[in-house]
Amino acid sequence: MSQSSWKDQIKKKWGPHSHCTICGKAIPPDKKFCSQACRDKYLGYEQKQKSKGKIQMIFLLGMMGVMFFLLFFVWR
Ligand SMILES: [Zn+2]
Repeated sequence: MSQSSWKDQIKKKWGPHSHCTICGKAIPPDKKFCSQACRDKYLGYEQKQKSKGKIQMIFLLGMMGVMFFLLFFVWR
């Protein structure tokens, strides 16, 4: 008699696995992406995010510069 729950059945069928970061396909747990295409997509996305962060940083520094300018030269 081997009555297993549906959860056990799924575990047996799929085994330990993770999902592709980009498209969500089931992949081996030691991998992050299902294919080179998804890997490239992720790397491109990450690079975009990084350049976005840089722009935000420059914007913030600019704002701080303006604030200092106001503090020291205008509100005196
Ligand atoms: Zn994928």
